[in-house]
Amino acid sequence: MTEKGNRDIVSIGSALAERGRRADGWLELGRRADNTPLETPVTVVNGAHDGPALWIHACAHGDEFDGTVAIWRALQLVDPSTLRGALIIFPALNISAFEARQRVSPIDGLDLNRVFPGDPTGSYTRRLAYLTEHLVKTHADYMIDLHGGGNEFSVVYYTLYHAASNEAGAASERLAKAAGSHLVWASNDEWLRNGLFTRVTEAGIGAMLVECGGEGRLHEANVHAHERSLVNMMRHLGMIDGEPDAAPDGAFLMMKSADFFHCAMGGVVTPLVQLGDTVEQGQPLVQIRDLFGNEVEVVTAPVGPAILLAIKTYGTTNGGAPVGILGMKQ
Ligand SMILES: [Zn+2]
Repeated sequence: MTEKGNRDIVSIGSALAERGRRADGWLELGRRADNTPLETPVTVVNGAHDGPALWIHACAHGDEFDGTVAIWRALQLVDPSTLRGALIIFPALNISAFEARQRVSPIDGLDLNRVFPGDPTGSYTRRLAYLTEHLVKTHADYMIDLHGGGNEFSVVYYTLYHAASNEAGAASERLAKAAGSHLVWASNDEWLRNGLFTRVTEAGIGAMLVECGGEGRLHEANVHAHERSLVNMMRHLGMIDGEPDAAPDGAFLMMKSADFFHCAMGGVVTPLVQLGDTVEQGQPLVQIRDLFGNEVEVVTAPVGPAILLAIKTYGTTNGGAPVGILGMKQ
C-alpha cells in the first residue's frame, strides 16, 4: 500500500501540523440555525519519521463516547518526534448527534453508518458521510472507527472488518486481530454495504471497527478496551514502539455475520443472558413485561449457535425495536 503519512505538512480543517508536530483544530460540517459554523474537533499528529497515515474517529454515532476518552489516553503515548507516519483523529466526528446526546443527528434523523457514500448536496448526515469518505480516501492508508452501545445497549468487546478479497481486506483482518479482542467479525453482511469501513476497504484502505461499551456512561473497562485497541494497532502498523498485546492466533472466535434481533411487544426489558454468551437457536434472551407486571413476551434467539454481541440495557422498549445483536460463528 502507498503510505500517505510521509508529508511535510498534514492539514485537515484548521489543524495543520509540520513534521514532528501535533495540532488541534476544527473542521466545519455545516451551519447552525443562527448560521454560525457547526464544527467538529480534529487532531493531526505529523510524525517526524515516515510511516502510514492512520485515521481514527469516535462518535460516528453521537452517544458512543467510550472511544473519545480512549483517544485522549492513546494520544498521551504518542510522541510526534518519534512517531512513524501520521495520525488524523476525530474524537467526536458526528458532532450534531454528539451535542444531542443521541445516536443520530436531530437535523435529519439518519444513521451515518448506513448512508455512505453520502451526498455533498444532501441533508446533514449525507453531507458528513460524503466529506468523511472523501477525506479518508484522500488522507489515510488505514481507518479505525470506534463504536459502542450508546445510551440503550451494552456491547461486548469485539472487532469488525469487511472480509474483502483484495489486499486491503487482508490488511483489515490483520488489524482486527491485532486490536486485542478474541471476538472478530469478518463481515460480508449485505446490511453493512453502505458502511464506511466496507466502502473504504473495497477502495484499498485497511479498515476496521472496535465495538465496546455503552449504557450511556463511561465504564473504565470499556474505555480501557478501546485504548488498548488503539495502542495495539499503532504498534501493529509500526507507528510506535512495542509489540501488539493481541489474543494468540488459536484463541480467536471468528464470526461470519451478525444482525439485530427484535421484540414484538413493548414494555419493561429484562435481559436473561450475559454479553458474550454463546446461545442456541430458540434460547430465551429477553423478557418483556407490560405495565401491570405481566410477562407479555420472551424474545428467543432467531439463530444459533451464536454469540451475544449486544443487549438492550435501557429498561424499556417499544414493540418492534431492536433488543440485541447476535453474531454467527464461522
Ligand atoms: Zn455505533
